[in-house]
Order: sequence, then structure tokens, then C-alpha cells
Amino acid sequence: MQDVAFLNGAFVPLAEAKVSIEDRGFQFGDGIYEVIRTYKGRPFAIEAHLARLERSATALDLTQPYSRAEWTRYVLEGIRRAAYPEAKIYIQLTRGVAPRDHAYPADVTPTVVITVREFHPLDSSVQVAGVEAMTIEDIRWGRCDIKSVNLLANVLARQQAKQAQVFETILVKAGSVTEGAVSNVMVVQGGTVVTAPEGSRILSGVTRAVVLDLALSEGLPVQERFVSQADLYDADEVFLTGTTVEVLAVVRVDGKIIGDGRPGPITQRLAADFTSRVG
Ligand code: PLP
Repeated sequence: MQDVAFLNGAFVPLAEAKVSIEDRGFQFGDGIYEVIRTYKGRPFAIEAHLARLERSATALDLTQPYSRAEWTRYVLEGIRRAAYPEAKIYIQLTRGVAPRDHAYPADVTPTVVITVREFHPLDSSVQVAGVEAMTIEDIRWGRCDIKSVNLLANVLARQQAKQAQVFETILVKAGSVTEGAVSNVMVVQGGTVVTAPEGSRILSGVTRAVVLDLALSEGLPVQERFVSQADLYDADEVFLTGTTVEVLAVVRVDGKIIGDGRPGPITQRLAADFTSRVG
């Protein structure tokens, strides 16, 4: 078992995978990424992740080096080489190496990186108890739908969460809850599952789509609209969705107890449905 890297068409030991200092990913954050995890050794929802990668690339006019079939082949090969029980796969695609200039040359070759590392799921006690979150102002740019490697606002948000010893920061823009720093946020209000609509203010999570689908299958009403910070505090239930967090109850926000302070029944149902779906 070993960490694996794939750089521009070849598998190399992770420690030897080097990118030029003139890479635009390094110079400008001019690149995109995806994070995929495996269940029972198989990448979950790889088609949806690759579709989002294509959307991000198109939005930034990045050259797409591989077809979905080729990406899939390299990801599967990386998983095979790493041989971990469960793996976390990062795909990173930057515009490539060019002399530093904000505007980019037409013929630049993209830099492709895939890494495969061991995935450690959250401890089941965390799932059972739920987590605490804090709200902060969403200071990100206006295209949060693009999964850009430019993650400075998210880095600062996660650092604040770490310092406050809470699990996640929930971002609030002009009074509306957008999403978490590394997750989407859903609330339950009177039996309805409510989450921010797709658009430029959130990353359209792969897990978000799966969970909304599960909610509909359960016969639960779903509304894609923004909720206010006050609605968040007053919600019957709050939970996060994401590749690494799956469906995770939030039981306290900014020190205020959500519901009765335990993962609520709808969150638990959707978490169980999600486990069945991925298993
Ligand atoms: N929102 C943000 C800002 C994220 O970074 C992530 C995942 O990393 C998500 C939402 C959840 O997306 P997904 O379910 O595709 O992992």
C-alpha cells in the first residue's frame, strides 16, 4: 500500500512528482480540482465528479486533456496501484506552465495531477453525536460553482473552525446561508428539506444531489432556496453533505442548540439511506 501520484500522463512516486514554479496553478491559482472517494474500493459517483470537472474546465476555458473514459482509466489504475482499503482521489488540472502573465497564451498545455491516498472515514462516534459549527461571513468570489484550486477563503474559514474547535464553518452571504467551507448545508423545517439553490453562490455538491434524490425517494418535500442565519438557528435539524462528511448532523451552531441537540430523525434517515446507496 502506498500513496500514488500521476503527473501529465505517467505514474510516479508521490515524492518525485514535481511541477514547475511557472505553473499557473502555483502563480495564479489558475486551475480546478475534484475529490472522489472509494467505497469498497470503487470510486463513488465518478461520472458526476468528471461531469463537474468538465463544467469547471469549460467555465474557465481550460483545455481538457482527457475524455471521461481516460480519466476513469487513470483513476482506477491509481486506486489499483495504491491498494488501500479505501482511497481518496484528488484530480487537479491547471492551465499549465507559461511565463508569468495574467492573460494566458492560447497554446499552453494543461498540467494534470492525480493523487491517491488512504481515506480515513470519520469516526462513527462523530456521526452518532453530530458536530458543532460556527457561522462566518462568506467572503468568496462570485463563481463558487467552479471547483477552483483557489481556496484561500476556504482555507481561512477552516482555520477559524480549527481555532474555535468546531467541525465546520457555515458561510453566510448578505444574510443568506450559502454552504460550508468543505460541504453543503441542509436544514429541516417542519419536515421539509431546504438547501441553497444551485448557482454561482455554492458548489453544486455531488453528495448534495444524491441526498436530495434520497429525500425525494423518501417522499420528503425538498426546497432549493436560501435560508437566513436566524432560520438556521431555528431549524428542526441541520446537516452537512459532502464527499468526506457524507450526511453529518450539526447539533450546535454558534453555541446555539439545534432541535434537541441530537441528530434529528430526518438526518438519521437520510444518513442511513446514503449508507445503503453507497454500499
Ligand atoms: N461545497 C464546498 C465548498 C466543497 O468544497 C465541497 C466538497 O469539497 C462540497 C460543497 C461538497 O461537494 P461534494 O459533495 O461534491 O464533495
